[in-house]
Amino acid sequence: MIANDISPVRHLQRHAAQHGAATAVVYEGREWTYREFADEIHRFAAALRADGIGPGDRIAYAGVNSITFIAGYFAAAWVGAAFVPLNFRLAGPELRAILLDARPDVLVAEPYHAGLIDPFLGELSVRRPLLVDDDAAAASDVSLAADWQSYEAFRRSATGEAPPVTRHEDDLAVVLYTSGTTGRSKGVLLTHGNIWWNWVNVDTVVDTRVGDVYLAVAPLFHIGGLNALTLRTLTRGGTVVVRRAFDPAQALDDLVNLRVNTMFVVPAMLAAIGRQPGFADADLTALRSTIAAGAPVPPALIASYAERGVYLQQAWGLTETSPFATYLESGKTLDKLGSCGVPMPYTEVKIVDPATHAEVDEATTTGELWVRGPNVSSGYWNNPEATAAAFTPEGWFRTGDIGYRDADGYFFIVDRLKDMIISGGENVYPAEIENVLNAHPMITDVAVVGVPDEKWGEAVCAVVSLREGTISLDEVRDFAALSIARYKLPTRLLVWDEVPRNGAGKLDKPTIRPRVAEYIERH
Ligand code: AMP
Repeated sequence: MIANDISPVRHLQRHAAQHGAATAVVYEGREWTYREFADEIHRFAAALRADGIGPGDRIAYAGVNSITFIAGYFAAAWVGAAFVPLNFRLAGPELRAILLDARPDVLVAEPYHAGLIDPFLGELSVRRPLLVDDDAAAASDVSLAADWQSYEAFRRSATGEAPPVTRHEDDLAVVLYTSGTTGRSKGVLLTHGNIWWNWVNVDTVVDTRVGDVYLAVAPLFHIGGLNALTLRTLTRGGTVVVRRAFDPAQALDDLVNLRVNTMFVVPAMLAAIGRQPGFADADLTALRSTIAAGAPVPPALIASYAERGVYLQQAWGLTETSPFATYLESGKTLDKLGSCGVPMPYTEVKIVDPATHAEVDEATTTGELWVRGPNVSSGYWNNPEATAAAFTPEGWFRTGDIGYRDADGYFFIVDRLKDMIISGGENVYPAEIENVLNAHPMITDVAVVGVPDEKWGEAVCAVVSLREGTISLDEVRDFAALSIARYKLPTRLLVWDEVPRNGAGKLDKPTIRPRVAEYIERH
């Protein structure tokens, strides 16, 4: 046991008691002190407690980055329930599949997302569907048929005190849904211990300090946005600047004017900030630690920030690893250009031959990266098959990423074993899009592959064969948009007489990928 109680709520209360007037959150032109923020969360927690919500229950959240989102995480921990944040870009059918799997007891939704969930809310048997009705969220106007209760009214309904529930290492903190290679989303289980050990790893090697200002522009529903530094900043008395959406001009303005010290971002965000006209002259001297992860960070991007005195620190990890498994310190950024660093201090990373699972010891030999440590998830919610496939009995998590270690022990990610596209930091699983497009009446077969894209890192390309006639990219996108999020929609379409399949009838991606790449290079 690492401590009697590792609930994040303890830290929040400590800061509220000792530095109650310090700023905890900056959001929508307003500042919340630690005292106000802790009170805000306490009100929600007290209402949940009065409603009988506690350990074993789940609180789902559907909405963009906001103070209510972060309060939801802490309130869930406060009453001992698990928090289930949903990707705010998902379409209705995707949300339905996840919510039917997660079976939340409480569902908090912003109006736009409530509009998506409203038609199937009745199927979910949620005890408390709550509608966020603050000014920022209410800007999107929707009509709802189901019986949603005002989040504000619910919070005001409880008057008593609610002492926080003790949380131990093995208690479930969050269930984070990631798409799977089969197209079915998997709920990654992360305990308070997993979350806590990621903090210990980060505190040990990343230059973060008590009282830092952190810019929360990465999506909070993703482990990188949530548990890179958002939670840690708030448990160490710092200030989190929360933006509802990523706007590169606003982000640059925040870096300069709010003297941001730390941020977690995906490469596409860094590239967008770097393209801002004011970037060359911006005063970035406050920015000390910029963790870039989620997708490979192009060396040219690392160099362009280094010219401005910002040494990006590339990290690598997954939702299942809470998230950091490796990290490159800023002093090595240029020496080890493109490396994602060395294993986190309390985390083991090994490279195995993907066919035999034997460990690869030689430097520069590629293999699959496996991770073990106290920050690694124990499995997937309600999905023993996926858990058995990804986690070995010895505690190793098979990441599906391919890489090697150089002679000095620095890791480089080169490829992915799993069929996945990373577009703008979002993971896109081709199988999911293929399933959707296969249902189109004109399409007889379809393969989806990633193609290089300057802005997003990779873009989605669909290769289809048709019953007859032709089909346009717009028609394909409009059809797919009924079922899946916009970021998954193909931005390129190729029509072939036949989509190659191998002897076993599986899509022959090793043949399809180079053919697509060759075509795209020529056009
Ligand atoms: P997620 O579970 O959404 O965090 O996605 C994890 C996946 O993102 C990994 O399996 C990698 O394929 C990819 N990824 C994360 N960080 C990096 C990185 N620094 N370089 C290359 N790929 C990365």
